[in-house]
Amino acid sequence: MENRLSLGEQKQSLIYGPVSSRRFGTTIGISLIPLKVCSFDCVFCELSVHTNVLTLERHTYVSVNEVLKELRNFPTQGVDYIALSGAGEPTLAANMGEVIDALHQKYSVPVLVLSNGSTVFMKDVQEELRKADAVKLTFSSLKEESFKRLNQPAEGVTASKVARGIEEFASSYAGTLYFEVVVVKGINDDLSEVRKTVEFLAQFKPYHIDINRPARPGTARYLELPDKELYMPLEREFPAVRVF
Ligand code: SF4
Repeated sequence: MENRLSLGEQKQSLIYGPVSSRRFGTTIGISLIPLKVCSFDCVFCELSVHTNVLTLERHTYVSVNEVLKELRNFPTQGVDYIALSGAGEPTLAANMGEVIDALHQKYSVPVLVLSNGSTVFMKDVQEELRKADAVKLTFSSLKEESFKRLNQPAEGVTASKVARGIEEFASSYAGTLYFEVVVVKGINDDLSEVRKTVEFLAQFKPYHIDINRPARPGTARYLELPDKELYMPLEREFPAVRVF
């Protein structure tokens, strides 16, 4: 997924970048979560290690002051977003909302949250995400079986629960909304399954729906890249879709 650095680099700093990507432009990343504390253990995870702590519990790992102090060393001129991302799921940081507020007070750069979408059914997470200028939520299948195989979620996270959370959040979110659908061969690569997911997401009028094919081996090293051409019809059917 976006803006990940190698494990060694992640350990060095809670701030990283600037990173350039086709999807979000130039970003400075903030990692509010220790390495692979996550609500998913995705088969496609680019960090290539299993999740260390599989959890839905929110904790504060890094203080707002630490973030602001570290961020002072990074020039933000010409940066498109300050992104809450990193090597775990950023919405598991209990102080995410406070960090967003503090960034807004100090910087004019828009704040983006790159979330795996697993916690969007939680009311406190929805409230804090609304503070962000842009939010990216990943949602890769409406089918429970595919969702479970792909994301290997923490107990209590299901595709239907996440879909309901997306409905609640996205129908009234005023910022820029991005969705991501990760497609893995043999799990959710069937065009009709991807189309149903895209149809569901398109109703919320997102800025983009990115169909992402994991480019590097994940924790399941047998992953094969699905054929990009297969999904090109969706770019024509849905203006928001981009296939990567
Ligand atoms: S959401 Fe999935 S891909 Fe992202 S850090 Fe967690 S396990 Fe890795």
